Order: sequence, then structure tokens, then C-alpha cells
Amino acid sequence: MRLYDLAKELGVSNKDLMNRLQAAGIAIKSVSNSLDEQAVLRMRNEIGKPAAPTTTATPPVSTPSEPTPPATPAKESQSKSAKPEVKPPELPAPEKAPVSASPPEDKPKVIIMRGAIIVRELAEQLGLKPNQLITELMMMNIFASINERVDLKVAQQLAEKHGILLEHEKKLIDQKSPIKKAEDDEEEPACPEDLEIRPPVVTFLGHIDHGKTSLLDRIRNTSVAKSEAGGITQHIGAYTIEHHGRKITFLDTPGHAAFTAMRARGANLTDIAIIVIAADDGIMPQTEEAIKHAQAAQTTIIAAINKMDLPAANPDRVKKQLQAIGLPPEDWGGTVICCPVSAQTGKGIDHLLEMILLQSEMLELKATHKGRAEGYTIEAQMEPGMGPTAHLMVTRGTLHVGDVLVCGPFCGRVKALINDHGIKIRTALPSTPVKCLGLSGVPQAGEKFKVYVNEKTARELVENRGTELRVQQLAIPKKASLQDLFAEMSKSQQLELRLILKCDTQGSLEAIQKALGEIKSDKVAISFVLTGVGNINENDVLLASASAAIIIGFNISKENGAVQFEKREGVEIRLYSIIYDIVDQIREAMTGMLAPELREKFVGKAEVRQIFPISKKGAVAGCLMINGRVGSRCKARVVRKGDTLYEGSLLSLRRFQDDVSEVREGQECGIRLDNYSAFEAGDSIEFFEVEKFAQKL
Ligand code: GDP
Repeated sequence: MRLYDLAKELGVSNKDLMNRLQAAGIAIKSVSNSLDEQAVLRMRNEIGKPAAPTTTATPPVSTPSEPTPPATPAKESQSKSAKPEVKPPELPAPEKAPVSASPPEDKPKVIIMRGAIIVRELAEQLGLKPNQLITELMMMNIFASINERVDLKVAQQLAEKHGILLEHEKKLIDQKSPIKKAEDDEEEPACPEDLEIRPPVVTFLGHIDHGKTSLLDRIRNTSVAKSEAGGITQHIGAYTIEHHGRKITFLDTPGHAAFTAMRARGANLTDIAIIVIAADDGIMPQTEEAIKHAQAAQTTIIAAINKMDLPAANPDRVKKQLQAIGLPPEDWGGTVICCPVSAQTGKGIDHLLEMILLQSEMLELKATHKGRAEGYTIEAQMEPGMGPTAHLMVTRGTLHVGDVLVCGPFCGRVKALINDHGIKIRTALPSTPVKCLGLSGVPQAGEKFKVYVNEKTARELVENRGTELRVQQLAIPKKASLQDLFAEMSKSQQLELRLILKCDTQGSLEAIQKALGEIKSDKVAISFVLTGVGNINENDVLLASASAAIIIGFNISKENGAVQFEKREGVEIRLYSIIYDIVDQIREAMTGMLAPELREKFVGKAEVRQIFPISKKGAVAGCLMINGRVGSRCKARVVRKGDTLYEGSLLSLRRFQDDVSEVREGQECGIRLDNYSAFEAGDSIEFFEVEKFAQKL
């Protein structure tokens, strides 16, 4: 009998039963392990008795909405990545440094700038037009465009020229600054009594075509059909279903590229990774890669052996493969739960959901609903008529309409929250995906968000982050000198494939950038002239034309203006809906950029015996082929005492009076070379052919 079946029968939680078994000295690895008769009997006797006071008693599984008494040290959601939280000190009212201050009349005007000094802003502060400032910079031998950064010293020199004293708030955001404190403004750790069970967050990983998307769709469609909720299913990066009254949230972007891109930002949202393996195909390289990514994230793994409806399905082979890579199946005495399923027929899906809930119970996933919300961005985009929309996942607290939110370099007041059924909601609880309207821009996937009480603090924080971001993005323009240019030219032996990449979401943008970054080549480098979310417009085409770049679009289309400009500018736009196709074709394009490698193939050698001058047209060398052969299309090299005197093509190859196409070893012939006639008896003529080989990246 399985542990979870006995737990159900006895009306205790799996965790409780597992603890009792362990206390009774019965070793058990997983909740889906089988128990022998003796163990079952013992537990029936023990639990059948009036319940002895136990320190680990938790309410039955069937009442998950009840908060679990925190007898065991419950860990809060995301505790994997949780930093030690500190009670924030009282925030002094944030003081904003004046950006400019008018001095008394007899003193020079003083301007105070903060963060990076950008040409446009400096011009504004100096009361100049940007192009005037650019000209002044050029006179100092500095070539900077309007959005580029200027060195502080240079900016001060320029300001001085205009009778202005420029000061810089070097480290505006130091440890004592109120904004810095606002950044660290962590909530107090939640009291154990406040922790409530939250739904697990699940991601599907695995090899391409093994059925990740089909499983996601099957689970969503089945649950939507079952649910009473109105509204239209919305793609919001994740969706929540209910199974036997308990919730599970699925992240909607399958594949480890997106999973890892999110994780790289610290957004370790996934609690359980379902590794999808096609039963007819078995473990493939990408499956192993996905497993490594899940293991690196210390995520609980469940194996879904899919396509069980196919006659070629061989789940035992898959289990053997799992065993071989260190993931022993639980029904073979190991630890990894394996669920045979078919996305096509729906068979086994209920069992898979049951196992997800079981594992989530073991993980004791809890979070407080109290306090200001925080969490992560799953995806974000610009939507016509709505502006920036971000798909958020709350990890603690409750997000309300009207909250002031900071997300990366953007902030805003939550105008509306929309759930995965397209229904407007007022609040979002932990592990609930929502679409949020009201941010000032499109944050990146994986970006952390947090609610702030004080709108002013939130705005200043964002202002500061924006400056920092620009500093990172803008390179300080260097003084151009011929020497620098030559140095650049010698460095630029490497070819460059320039791309403009536009995608439907930040998530796919990052996944594609990451996938392209994995194409390794010493000879061709990929550089992104522009990346962004949204359709391809005429500005993109103009930029591509100006920078000789190719435009790649993923799951988007071209705007009308772009189509016209595309033809006029002769720019190449390629649209895709599969990431792997982009990678393949870009690899092909990179290979195509490499000029074929030319290799010489020696074919024969002749010795000049006699020279026959012919009026005006030079001379014919009377030769004997001493080895190999010579064809009329061969290249020739004249060598005298080890020195090469000539290298070029044959003008004519004759035997007796006739033109021939080939002369072989031991035969005599008359040879004329293109632009060379200074033969001497005893010279060697070497013949070779040039072969072309496609270069590898
Ligand atoms: P992904 O690349 O892992 O997301 O795979 P998809 O969900 O796109 O599925 C790839 C192909 O396998 C599609 O043609 C599906 O129709 C097919 N497929 C997925 N699941 C099953 C299944 O359970 N049984 C069968 N017979 N085909 C399936």
C-alpha cells in the first residue's frame, strides 16, 4: 500500500504519517513509496487510537485552505533565495538634492549634476542646444552623440567656458541615503502564525517535441472546461488550476532557456520542475540539460513520461535511463516520482497533478498574505491601448489595485489587475499570476517588484535606478585618434553579424539572446544593434539599413511603414515562431559570412629546357614535365635556385603546334605564362590548383 493512500484512509497528512513512520524506525524515502503490511498495521493501530499528542500534527490534506499550525519550522515561500531580513530603520524624510541652485548675483552660477553626465542633459543645464555642445566637444577632439556620456572633467571644463561651476554629487546614493535604505526596505520576517499554504509553482522542462506545450495545454483546457469561472483564458505567462480543491500554478513558458534566464535575475520562482520525456524517444541531450538546470536551481523534480499512447512507448527504458543519470525512479526504490502520461488522450494527467500536490505538501510551501506585496515579473510587454503591462507573480504579501509598485527601473500605481481568466480582480495573493497595468515602462522578465508605501521614495528609487542603468549602457566616448583607429582596425579581423531583434515578450527576447550567445565562434561575432519588444516599425528598418544589420522578429509582425521601408532600404527582415529555427539560420548566416578558405594543391613540375622568343609577345618556354601533370587551368610558379620569380596563370599550353588541355610526366610541351617571359634554361615551373573549402565557425 502506498503511503499517500494510507494517509488518506487514516485522515492524516502525508507529512504527519511520514514523520510517524520515521519515528517508528521505518525508513521511507518518498510519500509515494509502498509500505509493507506490518507498517500499515502499525500505523492503523497507532493512529486509530485516540491521537497521542504529537509535535508534528498538521491538519488533513483535504483542508489545505486552513493555515497549518507551524509546529515544524515552516519555511516561507522562496526561502531558498531568502536573505536574512532585517527590520528597517525609521526612514528619514527623503531629501532630494537640488539639481540646480541659483547663486547670488556676484558668484558664478553653480549646477549640480548627479549620476552619469549625458550630452543632452549637460546641454540643457548649460543652456545650450545639444548640437552646440556636440560641436564644442568635437573641438576638444571628443566625438560623442546626444545620448552618450561625458567625462566629469570634460563637463567641468565646458561649464567653466560658459562661466558655470559644475559640481557632481559623486555618490548620491551612499549607505546613509534614504533611497538606499528604501532599496533595503525589507519587510520583517513573517510570524509563523501568519504563514499560509500557497500553491506550488510548476515549470515544464525537457527536450523539444517531447510534449511540454501539449501537456500545459491539456492541463489548462481540462481545468478550464471543469471550472465555473467565466471570462476568456488569457496568456499571462502562468495560469492556476484547481485540482480536488487545491491550486497549482503553471509557468507558461516551457523550456530551460527561459527558466534559466529568469533564474539569472534571481527569480527562482519554480518549486517543482516537471521533466517531460517522450516514452518513445527517451532521454535526449536537451532532457539532460534541462535536468541539470533544474538541479542547479535545487528544484524538486518529477518525471512525466509522455506519449504513452504511442505503440512504441517504452517507459521502462526511460526509467532505466533516469536511473543511469542519477535520478532513480521512486517505484524502483529511488526518489524521483515518474508519471506515465499522454497529453494526447489525457490519461495519467490526474495522477501527475496528484503527485505535484503531494510533493508541494512535502515542501511545505507557505507565504504570508499580510504586508506589502513583492514578487517577480514573469513577462512584460507594451500592449496597444493599455501601455506597459507586466505579468507578475506575487511571492509574499497581497498586491492590491492602487498600490505603488517599483519594478526594476520603473514604477507606477497599479491601475488594474487581471487574472488568467481575463477577469479584473482587486487583489492577488502569493503564487497567483496577474497582469498588472500602470507601470511606467516594460520591465525585463525576472525583474523583482515591490510595493512601497511612500510614492515619493518609490519615484526617487526609480530615478536613481534609471541613471545607473544608463551608465551601464552608455560607453564613455573616447578621444578619436588615428592610432586608436588603426588599433581598432587590426582588432577587427573578426567579422560581425549585426542583428536587430524584436520579440513578443521580454521573456522570449532574453531566451533568444541567450541561445544565440551560445553559438561559439572565433571568426564571427553577433552584435545586437537593437533589441526590443513589439512589432517591427520603420525606425527599426532605418536603423538596420544604417548599421548593415539583419532584422529578426519572433512571434511578431511588420508594421505597414516597415514593409515600405524594407523594400526601399533593401533590408532583410526574417520572421520566426520557433527559437531553434532562429539559432539554426543565424549559425548558417554566420558560416556564410566566412570567405571560403583557399588551399593550394600541388599537381606537377616542369623544367625549362629551351627558350623560344616570339616577337612582341614574349617567349615560350620549351619544357619537360619531370613529375605530375599540368592542366591548362593550373596556376604556375617560376622558381630559380630556390627563389620564386613569378606566380600567375598559364596563357597557353601546347604540344608541338596544338593547344592541349593536359600534359603528363615525361612529355615535352611549350608553355607561355601571363605577363612573364624572362625564362632561363634550368628554371623550374611548379603547377598547382587552388581548392576552395567552406570555413567552419
Ligand atoms: P514541446 O516542443 O516539448 O513543447 O512539444 P509539443 O507539445 O509541441 O509536442 C510536439 C509534438 O508531439 C506535437 O506534434 C504533439 O502533437 C505531439 N505530442 C505531444 N504529446 C503527445 C502525446 O501524448 N501523444 C502523442 N501521440 N503525441 C504527442
